Amino acid sequence: MSKLPRVALIITGGTIDSVGTDRLDLAWYIEAGKRLNTGELLAQLPELESIARVEEFPFRRLPSHALVDKDWLDLVRTIHSIFDDDRADGIVITHGTNTIEETAYFLNLTLKTDRPVVIVGAMRPSSALSADGYLNLLNAARVAGDPSSRGRGALLAMNDTIYSGRDVTKTATYRVQAFQGRDLGPLGYSDADGKVVYYHQSVKPHTVNTEFDVRDRQSLPRVDVVVSYVGADGAMIDAAVAAGARGIISAGTGAGRPTPAEDEAFNRASKKGVIICIGTRVGSGRVVRSPGLVRRGFVASDNLQPWKARVLLALALTKTSDPDEIQRCFNTY
Ligand code: ASP
Repeated sequence: MSKLPRVALIITGGTIDSVGTDRLDLAWYIEAGKRLNTGELLAQLPELESIARVEEFPFRRLPSHALVDKDWLDLVRTIHSIFDDDRADGIVITHGTNTIEETAYFLNLTLKTDRPVVIVGAMRPSSALSADGYLNLLNAARVAGDPSSRGRGALLAMNDTIYSGRDVTKTATYRVQAFQGRDLGPLGYSDADGKVVYYHQSVKPHTVNTEFDVRDRQSLPRVDVVVSYVGADGAMIDAAVAAGARGIISAGTGAGRPTPAEDEAFNRASKKGVIICIGTRVGSGRVVRSPGLVRRGFVASDNLQPWKARVLLALALTKTSDPDEIQRCFNTY
């Protein structure tokens, strides 16, 4: 009987299973939308057999910028059904890199399991010269099958590096080393000797230790992100309210400053019961809840990127509309 770990593979699309017109097609393949057939990604990686017993589970395949909340909710259910039926010791999810960090944080906050769930992508299509997806996938299977990955939350493994789903963010459009943990760094590595090594762990509660359980949900509260810039007049904020937003994340300038006109629009939105979360477009560092934000009933995003703050605010709104309670979530997760 094989002692190899059982790893489930869920392929959701992205660059990793995309096919370009030739080996130098590193950019246009996205427009052609051609993908490997079911089973082909695995078939091209016979080396996986020495690392794990891998079984592919069906899921819809899309570019990651085409995903909607419903896809996340279905993904959560798919992951739980694999573990509930004890079909795997760990799961690898292949995913487009454009929004992989949002999915990783969503899973980090909502999965009710301590078994490893590892999300992985590629910066070059499967057909490219020096395609990175194959080794990324092999390493992700190593991470997912390694007992030391248990209880660390949803992980992202790219380019030999393992990140917390909370901290990781994409920082380059085409470089293979596209992901970083910014202020918080990686957790460890899937290294050249085949070993999975951890050096850090996140102290933020995740998976089984969060208050969020979306297994029975069919939708999430609408939360929009509005980016500030010189002269922004608040029209986007009014539009978000008109579209039915229950929360708005401000990707403000500097340490979280919208323009004066945006501030007025946020006050208007808040009077209608919309939760305003002040974040920053800067890319790293905390946004703090100043006395003025407390007075206005606004919350602050801590050091989450605006699109990650969107994930947390949508989940918090499934539990409460009280700004102080929502701020507690931002302080906690
Ligand atoms: N360029 C993206 C990727 O790396 C496309 C996507 O996110 O689906 O996968």
